[in-house]
Amino acid sequence: MANPTRCAGCKFLRRKCAQDCVLAPYFPPSNPERFACVHKIFGAGNITKMLQQLPVHVREAAADCMFYEASIRVEDPIYGCVKIISQLQQDLFQAQSEMAKTKAQIAFYNAQQQLNQQQQNMVDGVDDNYQQDLHSEYSRLGLDDHFYSLG
Ligand SMILES: [Zn+2]
Repeated sequence: MANPTRCAGCKFLRRKCAQDCVLAPYFPPSNPERFACVHKIFGAGNITKMLQQLPVHVREAAADCMFYEASIRVEDPIYGCVKIISQLQQDLFQAQSEMAKTKAQIAFYNAQQQLNQQQQNMVDGVDDNYQQDLHSEYSRLGLDDHFYSLG
């Protein structure tokens, strides 16, 4: 039995659209440009073969992919999708090197902060040692803490 409304594929190919037409779910008659575009790049026979080879649950994704690839190939007959892929790879590379630079800066600032902290600790440590030495010197001379605190 034929579909009362032929799918875009069958309409394009001027044939009857079978009830189990493999194209029908993915190429509705309301969007004839979609099939025309995919047909131009892949050919109707290949579209049908590719869809038939796939499990039903992934056919919609495959049809959408074919349309995406085909429409970009029509727009850019030289590079097609590859142009977008290489642009994205370049963006990714740029983002990765920016991230590496930022990580290096963070490591640098952390190291600098640690160094400053160590230097501060050393200065504080010298002060502490000096105070302790002074205190023990006062004690040795028999001067009490009262005197020491006045000093
Ligand atoms: Zn059909």
